Amino acid sequence: MTALALFGGTPAISSDQFEMRWPVVTDDDLADMAAVMRAGAFTSLSAGEKHVASLEREFADYVGTRHAVAVANGTAALHLALAAAGVGRGDEVIVPALSFIATAMAVLHAGAVPIFADIDPRSFNMDPACAASRVTPRTRAILAVHLHGLPADMDALQALGSRHGLALIEDAAQAHGALYRGRAAGALGDAAATSFNVSKNLPACGEGGMITTDDDRIAEAAAMTRQFGERIVAGEPRRYISHALGWNYKFNVLQAAFVRRRLATLKADAADRQRNCERLTRVLAELPGVSPPLVPADCTHAYHFFRLRLDPVAAGVDAEPGPFRRAVARMLGAEGVPIGQYQSRPLSAHPLFQDEASLKKLEIPRAAREHYRRDDHRVTRQVLDNSLTLQRGLLRPDAAGVIDGFAQAFRKVWDHLDEVGRYARSLSPRKRSTSASMA
Ligand SMILES: *Cc1c(COP(=O)(O)O)cnc(C)c1O
Repeated sequence: MTALALFGGTPAISSDQFEMRWPVVTDDDLADMAAVMRAGAFTSLSAGEKHVASLEREFADYVGTRHAVAVANGTAALHLALAAAGVGRGDEVIVPALSFIATAMAVLHAGAVPIFADIDPRSFNMDPACAASRVTPRTRAILAVHLHGLPADMDALQALGSRHGLALIEDAAQAHGALYRGRAAGALGDAAATSFNVSKNLPACGEGGMITTDDDRIAEAAAMTRQFGERIVAGEPRRYISHALGWNYKFNVLQAAFVRRRLATLKADAADRQRNCERLTRVLAELPGVSPPLVPADCTHAYHFFRLRLDPVAAGVDAEPGPFRRAVARMLGAEGVPIGQYQSRPLSAHPLFQDEASLKKLEIPRAAREHYRRDDHRVTRQVLDNSLTLQRGLLRPDAAGVIDGFAQAFRKVWDHLDEVGRYARSLSPRKRSTSASMA
């Protein structure tokens, strides 16, 4: 048996063995960028510019909504989607405790108060029962995140929203390619926001975002507020009249051209990604103590992240979950697997929501702070304590070789579980109460 790389053995994967760069940039992309520069239409309002409006049409067709409104980034898209759906000062918006911080920040940008609900331990998405327990007379909307690319439990959230007259907004930033009962993420609520950040499954060559909706009024409000509250009419000159408070959230033309090229192959790329990740799931399911992502029968996972849960008891290792996770992460890292831990704490545990002065400045009412407690969101903390994430390499449609490499490395580490256990026990056990939030 070859020695573990962490202890001086040869790594299972060498650093130059696979192409892991993301996004994939082709010569055709470069030629297209040059053409945009030469044409000289640099903003979405420049005469003759067509990429932004074309992307909006094509993206709406892809998602299956009547409207798509392009903006500067995903956080701006969330902000405008919430505001256009009527969320404003003093309103409460229920968000999952596990997400990227932008989910909660966009609620603050809209002047509202994020209320954190715990997640389901297997889907990692918002637990509808917990969300239901957080509804108050001030609740205005539910912001459902399709975390890691798995659609949230939209039927349950829709039912909850209808019961209380709440808007249901999707954060689909991680869900390009995800389907819920055959319908695309982004077409499942009153409005959705998504991101084309360069790290996402549908990347720009930098930043970008989109709001999708069937609602004419939401689309119109979003289109106005992305640009100084102006009404822009296609084919007519800009009049520079502001009807409402707006922002400058216009989308960049070069980015739009790049996203259009990626969108043309998104369906095929998503299918490849799904096939690759399902193969990784089959490999990892054979290892005791590893649970690959759950995919309910009515969902298509977009695999923006591949989160695997680790159970030392099932692996036959005498160690606590946290140290076991850290030991496995270090050993896989040494073998050449780009393993990570997406998010280290619940959103509510960021200093932004813990620091007294910060809460005061944000004008978070006392009652809302009930859901900002450090010891709340138990499932989220448990998940963060006992799971790891893979992403790099897996986003590429041509990741089949990468998967073979990952499989080799995992099997090698699992052949050395005795050593993993010893190493885990040697890692200083953190205090139980802080282990989840501090890692
Ligand atoms: C990336 C991301 C965002 C923010 O998108 P940006 O384009 O980076 O502003 C929001 N929510 C989630 C879940 C994300 O992953």
